[in-house]
Parts: sequence; structure tokens; C-alpha cells
Amino acid sequence: MKIARIRLFTLRQALRHSFETSSHRKSGIEHVLVEVTDADGRTGWGEIASPSDPYFGAETTATAWEIATRYLVPALLGAEGDEPSDLERTWARVRGHEFAKAGFSGAVWDLYARANGIALATALGGTRDEVVAGVSLGIEPSIDELLAQVQLQRDAGYPRVKLKIAPGWDVEPVRAVRAAHPDLDLHVDANGAYPDDDEAAAVFARLDREGLTMIEQPYAPRELVAHAELQARLDTDVCLDESVVALGDLRAMIRLRAARILNIKVSRMGGLQVAKNAHDLALDAGIPVWCGGMHEFGVGRAANVALSALPGFLLPSDVSGSDKYYESDIIEPPVVAASGRVRVPTAPGIGHRVRVARIEHEASRVFDSAAAGVRDAALSAG
Ligand code: MG
Repeated sequence: MKIARIRLFTLRQALRHSFETSSHRKSGIEHVLVEVTDADGRTGWGEIASPSDPYFGAETTATAWEIATRYLVPALLGAEGDEPSDLERTWARVRGHEFAKAGFSGAVWDLYARANGIALATALGGTRDEVVAGVSLGIEPSIDELLAQVQLQRDAGYPRVKLKIAPGWDVEPVRAVRAAHPDLDLHVDANGAYPDDDEAAAVFARLDREGLTMIEQPYAPRELVAHAELQARLDTDVCLDESVVALGDLRAMIRLRAARILNIKVSRMGGLQVAKNAHDLALDAGIPVWCGGMHEFGVGRAANVALSALPGFLLPSDVSGSDKYYESDIIEPPVVAASGRVRVPTAPGIGHRVRVARIEHEASRVFDSAAAGVRDAALSAG
């Protein structure tokens, strides 16, 4: 594979149901799609799934665009390699900016799998032909509305429901959902919203009695010691998300016993190679993993499905059907969940056709290495 051309597209899609976490509320999602083309004309697609604003992590859509056009494109363009890792190495000296790198990683892995006529799941070492999908529900305006959403997702067949929690929206909604669904696989995610203090400790002690599958990221990302102390006090498993950006973070988590479950996000960790390495390390340490999502469009969603086919993904992943979030997807067919299960595609690459014409038509910003310039649709339309 020799990378001959790279295009980037900023695309926005409206969410069918607005989504609120401990830090913010959103009604639409803007991601950057990455297309790489090799010297033989074969293409691969990846997705930079950074949130628009720096509330999940430090990156934004704008910083990802800047890093992509200024550093990642020049590093990858013209590079040659037999394996995806050969191409991922070209941007290794760029520190941080994991979401931006993950979009390029997805594109080179898709290209590699397509070039070899194999499914992305096979290229990654996947062993399953279907994965169990869970859904994630945001903070709703009222407990009644939350209960209605939980019922809707259970009726759709999802076996696991995750609730976003935040100070002031925790024990009461969780108890209400638990009372209505005593047998539900239920877990909560705080996105690091709690301070390490007595009041928060009391909240977690009460949540510990609700039979939750896990409490995800209760404290801020760098509070590994606080997470270890909490895990020692709780019967419920703690799961880390934002805390684990690199393999070194995962080694610290394991050594400190800061959590018993890992959420692997391809975007947060900088791509499919490091996500696969994190999976292998967790599997060796007896830590079950699952794949978290960033409201990916179809390109990133399909890659998450492929990754979730690896043997250590023992818990339901956030790979619900495209229709939970979007009216229509940028891939065909869309990702479909039936009774809470998603088939792992067997066609080459991500296993879905990318709707390139639609992406070209709807993109608000385009970069093309062949034109060596940036078209800003918003400005040129002015
Ligand atoms: Mg999370």
C-alpha cells in the first residue's frame, strides 16, 4: 500500500433524540471523515469522532482538523507499508490528539482489509460472527421520560442499558429504573463528574446496593488512586473510560486495581492498533472489556463492530443500530441491531458501502491533498 491521496470531509448530522451527559447537551454531531487512496486506486475510510467541544477530552472538531491537515496528512501521504502498523508509525511522533489519529488509523485499516479481500474484523483477529449491543441513555428532563426511554430500548431488544449520571441525577433515577426493571443489565456512567469527597462516596455507596453491572468513570481522568480506593470499598465493578488513553494508563489501572472493567474506545486511544493492543493486555490480566462509542456515524460504528468481535469483548458494546441516533446513515446498509445483536460483516474492509456522493455533497468543509487546498463550503456559499 502506497498512500497517494487523502481527503477529509467535515459532516454534520442531526440526532434523532438530543443527548445530555454530565457536562453538556447536544442535538447534532459533527465528525470528520478520512478517505485514503493508494497508488492502485483502492480506498479506505475512517472517522474522526471528536466531539465539537473539549468536554469529553481536550480535542475538538477544529483541533482535529488542524492536526490532520498540518501534521497527519503530510506524515502519511506518500508513505508505503505492508501492514497498517507500518502506516500508523508515520504519525507516531505527534503527541496526543488521539481522536484525530484514530480517524487516520481507521482509514488505513479499512484500506488494508479491502486490499487483502478480508473483513476488518478478520484483519484485527476477531472471532465472533455477532456482537451484543447495549444502548447509552443521556440525562433526561424527568424520571418519567427516562423510564419511557428505557422501556423503548428494552422493547427494541437491547439487553443492557447504560445511564448517564451526574451530581443531582444519580441515586433517584437509578432506583426508579431498577424498580421498574429488576432484572435489567444496568450500568451507570458519570464521565468523571464527581469530586473525590465524602458526599460522592455516599452516593456510590448507595448505588452499590442497586445491582449495577458497573459504575463507569466516577472521578476525573487522572484520579487513578481515588478510583483504586473506591474500587476497594465497592462490590460493584468500577470501569474506566476517560482515564485510559494509552497502554501505560492501562498498566497503571491494572497495577493499582483502579477498576475491574475497561471501556475501550478506538477514538480515545488513538486508533485500532492501540485498541487491539489494549484488548490483548486486558485479556492477559483477566479484565473484561467492551467497546464504547462516541455517537459514530456508520464508518466509525462499523469499525467498532469489527473490533468488538475480538475474544476479550465479553460485555455488551455501545454499537447499537444507526437508527437509534440518525435518520439515515452514510453507509449502506446501515448498522442494524436485531434483538440487541449486530452481525459482524464478512465483506472486505468495514463491510459496508460508503455513500461517497452524499458525503461530498453534504460536507461543510473539504480537504483534498490532490488539490492541496481547503474548500470551506460555509465561506464559499456566502
Ligand atoms: Mg464513558
